[in-house]
Amino acid sequence: MTIISAKKEGGYMPKTLTVANWKMNGNRKLWKELAREVTAGMSEINTKVVLATPAAAFADVSSFLSEHSKVSLGAQDIHQQSSGAHTGDISAEMVKDFGGKYTLVGHSERRLEHHEKGFLLNDKVKQAIKEGLVPIFCFGESLGQKENGRTLSVLEEQVNEALEGVVLKTGEELVLAYEPVWAISSSAGSLGREPSEGELSEVFEFIYKLLLERFGESVASNVKLLYGGSVKADNVAKIISNRYIAGVLVGGASLKADSFLAIARGVASKPNEV
Ligand code: PEP
Repeated sequence: MTIISAKKEGGYMPKTLTVANWKMNGNRKLWKELAREVTAGMSEINTKVVLATPAAAFADVSSFLSEHSKVSLGAQDIHQQSSGAHTGDISAEMVKDFGGKYTLVGHSERRLEHHEKGFLLNDKVKQAIKEGLVPIFCFGESLGQKENGRTLSVLEEQVNEALEGVVLKTGEELVLAYEPVWAISSSAGSLGREPSEGELSEVFEFIYKLLLERFGESVASNVKLLYGGSVKADNVAKIISNRYIAGVLVGGASLKADSFLAIARGVASKPNEV
């Protein structure tokens, strides 16, 4: 199956999404300010956003979101099991209890610092879907892998491992975020730049093709594909112009409401529905 045939049949056109990854930053004062300012600013912006906050922020942040249809709460990780003796972890059920709708899975910092990969991430994706959370599965090659010409083979392995045995009804239950480790602003050895338009096209066409082969067009075309790594207000328009990119995942620039809202505004400029 080729990309051209998908395009001819209507092809890829999911709704847009912007995800903030606050990582392990801030305190209650900052979290509440950010949640208040983002929810207020989003009333003018025609897209949806997710705030992937530290678990300690769930209560404060969720108090601003309860009635907000455009801003959702997300976790940065969940455990692959429902409950039990897993010190330090949080479950999908706990995220949902605070109104959370999404969870990141497999962020490169979890892969690096907590050695998460392969089967474990597959289990986390399945657990999120089973519990009714949308997993935002993060994947991406390191600088060394890129320099050795292994980008596509690494991505294929990461995505195929994570999606093994995953059953989707519509495709809206899954988000994939391509985050090349070399582009993440805070990574050691980061090049501090987003990929070129050519690099993005090569990767996103490839990933969409993997989805087409695995799920077929009617489901693949509803899976949101995001880009993450050094996204800012001044490069988001170029990134979002790629036809396979439905939105962005934002780290550093999500810690200031005005820069995050400017990025969401850029995403919303993509001709699409909320
Ligand atoms: C990230 O780590 O998920 C990320 C996208 O970071 P940044 O936007 O700071 O590059």
